[in-house]
Amino acid sequence: MAEERLQKIISQAGIASRRAAEKMILEGRVRVDGKVVRELGTKVDSAAHAITVDGRAIGGVEHHVYLLLNKPKGYLSTAKDDRGRRTVLDLLPEVKERVYPVGRLDNNTEGLLLITNDGTLMNGLLHPRFEVEKTYHAGVTGQLTEEKLQMLRDGLLLEDGMTAPAKVSLLPERELSERERGFTRVSIAIHEGRNRQVRRMFAAVGCDVKALKRVRFADLTLKGVARGHHRTLTQEEVSRLY
Ligand code: URA
Repeated sequence: MAEERLQKIISQAGIASRRAAEKMILEGRVRVDGKVVRELGTKVDSAAHAITVDGRAIGGVEHHVYLLLNKPKGYLSTAKDDRGRRTVLDLLPEVKERVYPVGRLDNNTEGLLLITNDGTLMNGLLHPRFEVEKTYHAGVTGQLTEEKLQMLRDGLLLEDGMTAPAKVSLLPERELSERERGFTRVSIAIHEGRNRQVRRMFAAVGCDVKALKRVRFADLTLKGVARGHHRTLTQEEVSRLY
């Protein structure tokens, strides 16, 4: 295998984004053959040298796993939690590979979450330049006028800058479940993936999100996957994500 930049090897192993891998290197958390490497440009042949991050070996991933999970509320979308709270990986006890969620859903958000150990795909999907469309169904309280819907569509100012144009439409009343009476149900599709973005966008127009579910990621939907369950993506679905 040819030599590659250390940060690329770490990110392709699915451990961190390229930028986070650079930070790990600068912080002295990465060793090659037992020696700390802090030089960002360092090139290494990962087949010939032992690379560790925080003392844990990163082997080449031979078998890629691609899962589509219907995340319930009450599960963190991180690989592990210092405070011992439930994470989405607790829903996948049979998966032995070291897998990671592709991006985040809030603890109290449910719906479609991809999980993989393919670092290249993960970084591609999360890179702002290639951010794929994600559709959410939100149950909100507060007056949602046509003017506010238009503000959400056009983009509005959040503390981390303007949001890009979004597709926003009201969902028909008949889709309301018992639990959701009194909410206005809205479909919102965004390309960005900022922290708590949908909740903050609604808050910016004076609405409170009471329920939030991601129903689509690129062209993938939750069809056939019950809450708390998952399925493996087909090869064709994986290649469409690349
Ligand atoms: N936007 C949010 O506010 N929360 C999520 O979990 C996902 C998108």
